[in-house]
Amino acid sequence: MIGQAFSCLYKAYGEQNKWSGASFEIVVARLFAEDKQSVENLVTWYQQVDGMPLLDQWDTDTLRQQLLAINGISVEMADSILLHAFNRPVFTVNSDTRRLFRRLGVVPEGLSHDETRHLIEISLEGDVDLFQEFHALIAKQCRIHCLKVPLCEACVLASQCYH
Ligand code: SF4
Repeated sequence: MIGQAFSCLYKAYGEQNKWSGASFEIVVARLFAEDKQSVENLVTWYQQVDGMPLLDQWDTDTLRQQLLAINGISVEMADSILLHAFNRPVFTVNSDTRRLFRRLGVVPEGLSHDETRHLIEISLEGDVDLFQEFHALIAKQCRIHCLKVPLCEACVLASQCYH
């Protein structure tokens, strides 16, 4: 079901994650364009740790703890950075993801952030490229159709939606 949603969105919108492979600074600036202070804090942190040996080989939990220790960085932001800047297999669960997947009936009510994330990650078999593309497609879908008050007319997911 989650894979089917991805296929429908990809067919409708095409590739959205066109900036994968960009530098850390560019990735965070694009992810958090409206939060200049957090971008500044992240870039400062990155400049401090960039010279550390084997940064790319730090395990994901260590990296997440480092990111969460930065002023202004939430769990959702940390997961987004892990996925897009460090290419870690971490699905970004944010308000868009929760709203869309609950309406599609693929994420039950009452699951915690991490339970939701694990459920989606298992469904998508840890594919980082897929996670990145899906995150960008969900953002687009939730800007155009699946808003808080949804605009369901012409939504490509309508046939699989329980809302
Ligand atoms: S049909 Fe409506 S509620 Fe369902 S995914 Fe589309 S926009 Fe969202």
